[in-house]
Amino acid sequence: VEETYIMVKPDGVQRGLVGEIISRFEKKGFKLIGLKMYQCPKELAEEHYKDLNSKSFYQKLIDYITSGPVVCMAWEGVGVVASARKLIGATDPLQAEPGTIRGDFAVQTGRNVIHGSDSPDNGKREIGLWFKEGEIC
Ligand code: ATP
Ligand code: MG
Repeated sequence: VEETYIMVKPDGVQRGLVGEIISRFEKKGFKLIGLKMYQCPKELAEEHYKDLNSKSFYQKLIDYITSGPVVCMAWEGVGVVASARKLIGATDPLQAEPGTIRGDFAVQTGRNVIHGSDSPDNGKREIGLWFKEGEIC
């Protein structure tokens, strides 16, 4: 079965959006198989976003993700990777449709509340990066 890595970013945690976000994924019908709160070390943020390390916003992105605790989640289900990306909405919250998480709760690309893996391979890779073996049910 497909798995995806979903993370409530520090702004989403600070603003109290964790319950709302978990609820949307639960109601959609996906299965929660991993969940924890975590202060992300710089090295892990850099590994997670290594494909973006040549971008102009890279350092700001690392500072943002490490600026406070995140909530790490692993979700399982048929088609969960693409479906989660739809629930999340476009990277720029001003382009994200109303009804999506970013469309409903954010205005800035640099504070867009939530991460979702962009492929099944990256779903597996990221769950392996953020969770230890015994933390996934
Ligand atoms: P994520 O990987 O967090 O789910 P995404 O797949 O929609 O988001 P990516 O292209 O992978 O978008 O970018 C990763 C993150 O980097 C974005 O979610 C956003 O927080 C940040 N980011 C992307 N583009 C910009 C930009 N132009 N300015 C500032 N931050 C950006
Ligand atoms: Mg991405």
